[in-house]
Amino acid sequence: MKKAAIRMIQAQLKVQGFDPGAEDGVLGPKTRAAIDRVEKLPEDWSMSRKAVGFIQLLAMDNGIDTGPLDGYWGHQTEYAFQCLERKLEFNEEPPLWRPEDLLDLNPHGWPSQTPQENLFRCYGEVGQNQAQIQLPYPHRLAWDKKTVIHNYSCHEKVHDSLLRILHRVLDHYGPEGIAALRLDLWGGCLNVRAMRGGSQYSMHSWGIAVDYDPDRNGLTMGRDRAAFARPEYDAWWRFWEEEGWVSLGRSRNFDWMHVQAAKL
Ligand SMILES: [Zn+2]
Repeated sequence: MKKAAIRMIQAQLKVQGFDPGAEDGVLGPKTRAAIDRVEKLPEDWSMSRKAVGFIQLLAMDNGIDTGPLDGYWGHQTEYAFQCLERKLEFNEEPPLWRPEDLLDLNPHGWPSQTPQENLFRCYGEVGQNQAQIQLPYPHRLAWDKKTVIHNYSCHEKVHDSLLRILHRVLDHYGPEGIAALRLDLWGGCLNVRAMRGGSQYSMHSWGIAVDYDPDRNGLTMGRDRAAFARPEYDAWWRFWEEEGWVSLGRSRNFDWMHVQAAKL
């Protein structure tokens, strides 16, 4: 866990009447003992899980959406931590991230990503029920740009929707626009793995999430830095959102590379 997070824990433990010792950003014995006295954290969790859980509790107390209390530092906890920093240390409300043009359509009935049983019910076992999408325009591997691909594996239930989106992208931007905006830089789709820092499966595990241009849309880049937040990508996002897909960047302002056929 980063030092800034531990310092936040120490400062807030003090506010709550515990004695964590010096605010030094280190999980020393006094801080550990103070965390152990926080009643809302399950006793059988490891210390690092309790520390993350404490941040999640702080977020909840401050009305910041952090997902379930699970003690794992995933995307949502990272985002919640950034909001908390603003709120607790700079006394600023987190900026509301609700662009007026964010479409919330769901014509194909994509399931909600939580609880995870929804995904198993709709899409089956991870890594199964795949189809090959024949790409309307060639893609390049983001991690090896000289390698061109003409198809990739995705879940059979999202295949037709994905194909329509990419056709619309081609019609709208044309090959030159696609190259200029790097809409052909593919960061992956099917990949059976746990969510970063979490215990749940990533949406990629079913082949229902796709990453584009990861270099310029890094995990922790906000809309001030992510390329996909710029207005020239409005049409790109409209095509996804009209098919019910969810951009984490557009809805949560992190991981702008990632779009998924599951609601938050
Ligand atoms: Zn992704």
